[in-house]
Amino acid sequence: MALTYLDHAATTPMRQVAVDAMVPFFTERFANPSGSHRFARDSRRAIDEARDRIAELMGVGPGEVVFLGCGTEADNQVIAGVGGVAVCPAAEHHAVLHPIEARGGRVVAVDHTGHVDLERLTDAIDDRTGLVSVMAVNNEVGTVTDLAAVSALVRERAPQAVLHTDAVQAACWLDLRSIAPLVDCMSFSAHKFGGPKGVGVLTIRDGIEVDPLIVGGGQERERRSGTHNVAGIVAMTAALAATDAERPVEAERLGELRNRLVDGLVDGLDDVIETVPRDRKVAGSAHVCVAGIESESLLFLLDEAEICASAASACASGAMDPSHVLGAMGVDRALAAGALRMSLGHTSTEHDVERAVDVVVDSVRRLRRSAA
Ligand code: PLP
Repeated sequence: MALTYLDHAATTPMRQVAVDAMVPFFTERFANPSGSHRFARDSRRAIDEARDRIAELMGVGPGEVVFLGCGTEADNQVIAGVGGVAVCPAAEHHAVLHPIEARGGRVVAVDHTGHVDLERLTDAIDDRTGLVSVMAVNNEVGTVTDLAAVSALVRERAPQAVLHTDAVQAACWLDLRSIAPLVDCMSFSAHKFGGPKGVGVLTIRDGIEVDPLIVGGGQERERRSGTHNVAGIVAMTAALAATDAERPVEAERLGELRNRLVDGLVDGLDDVIETVPRDRKVAGSAHVCVAGIESESLLFLLDEAEICASAASACASGAMDPSHVLGAMGVDRALAAGALRMSLGHTSTEHDVERAVDVVVDSVRRLRRSAA
């Protein structure tokens, strides 16, 4: 029985081009890029080339790219590093929500699709607002934010504010060059688009001040100290280049597979609710709420059948707390208890989807029978 992996929003397998790109930096090209000898210059050149290329793919200038450790770090840096009142929607990833709550920021309501309520956002921002952070794509339910509308609103109401987007879930689905002009800062994480874990990017528009979170040797023009993860940076760049090249074709292919998956569940079972309409979300995201069952029991049966899915987002404890995203969207608690997130990515196949439909339908029927 081959593993059916439908948890690409948690992490997606590394692309072979990324693996191939990083290997030499573990072996013969291992020098510290901050050194002064020719060997170090070779590593530095690799980072410079990666910076130029990744900047192009993200629609920013090379000087606006800060390489760092992960998406969480990028989010934390912008939140800690910008003064004034911080504002974010209630359905943000915890990497944004927790630090904003910790600094006494404002949390704004979202609508039933998980999209920030623009009227509430208007009310929440004023001339004291220092930072507005709104995710590009929701990691649990896949909702795409209308960043053009958010940007217009923030620029008008609070022109002094820094506008940040957590674009960690966007790279596989949206052309980043169309997001970049709308915001001042963006967060990315390589392992969501076929690069390695433990490396990411924060983009900071020229002229915007964001204090460093990590200080020391002054790497990344004093914006993020610490010896560069050269292999990770090079591999992340290769992964994003491949993702960017394949994006239009993959979005169509995976959108069709996603539709078959969700249609299969809705047709095969009673009382399965598609959480967010398909035209409001990214192509690879399937999220449903199944009435009359608990996600935990369903995931147990799926795991036994070697199907990897999830209930909400991945978290360190693996615990199944009620989803703050579904809560913010106003999904009924009993229904939210039966949430199932299946997320597709570059390795997903027709076979994965057919198998998932059969096993989920069968498992839900078993659970409902045993509860009756
Ligand atoms: N933001 C979003 C929207 C995410 O989905 C994730 C990962 O789950 C993160 C931030 C955190 O990224 P990382 O795993 O690189 O810390």
